Amino acid sequence: MKNLSYILSIALLLPSAAIAQDNVNKQVDKVAKETLSQAEHQDGSKQGKPDAIALDPKRFEFVRTNLVSTFYHELAHALIDIMELPVLGQEEDAADVFSVIMVDRLYGEEEALAINGGAARGFQVDAIKMRGKGREWDWAAEHGPDMQRYYNIVCLTYGGAPKRRAAFAEEMRLPEDRAEICGDEFALAKSSWDPIIKRMEDAKPGEAVHFSQSARSGLQIRAAEIIETEVKTVNEKYNLPRRLRVVVKRCGRNSNFYAFYSPSREKITVCTNYIDELYHDAPN
Ligand SMILES: [Zn+2]
Repeated sequence: MKNLSYILSIALLLPSAAIAQDNVNKQVDKVAKETLSQAEHQDGSKQGKPDAIALDPKRFEFVRTNLVSTFYHELAHALIDIMELPVLGQEEDAADVFSVIMVDRLYGEEEALAINGGAARGFQVDAIKMRGKGREWDWAAEHGPDMQRYYNIVCLTYGGAPKRRAAFAEEMRLPEDRAEICGDEFALAKSSWDPIIKRMEDAKPGEAVHFSQSARSGLQIRAAEIIETEVKTVNEKYNLPRRLRVVVKRCGRNSNFYAFYSPSREKITVCTNYIDELYHDAPN
């Protein structure tokens, strides 16, 4: 019963378009695999150079927006460790909040909505997948439930400019009750992170973040370039008290990790299996 009631509650939360799409997921998956293997084949003939034509642009956009958001989420974990920041609440929530704040700060209006909207959709896709498998959310996990992370991201993004972003809130089905407080939520998040971001801005410029990758397929190579671009942006604008490494690499066949920060190594790892999964799971 517990399981069923959870499934029903998720079903009620999901926008109807997403539910309809869930019904065609199996077909979509098949097409995705073919597109991906075709992309890899064509890349191979060009000595590993990414082939823009072979990748489905819509799917790749889902990969791109989720990777940018994930990068800043992991950067938050790194900053909390390296800058010895206090965390008042769940660190995973703080990292989600930081990601929205950074995207809002670094990107123009259209791009910020695309990236944060894409990241929210990423959690929605995960929720639909979990529901499809009939699995209950692991309530003991460190992250909040996927659909809560969806609405938190949507609310903060909308709250960044409520007058300009009403259409975004509507498209993402943000309930009115929550929408009313999103401006305040964003203001609190911004005033909390701003002094920390300013400390990074005021620090003597340096190349604090080091990027490396061992991507294999054309998709992974292009995805790694997205992370590399964000690393460049961070190095151009900010400095950290210590060196931080960012690596895009294969995390092993049985790895459940998508991306993670290792405090002992001061390293962010973005797994190539996460990139592949994003491309595969991208909604139409
Ligand atoms: Zn995290």
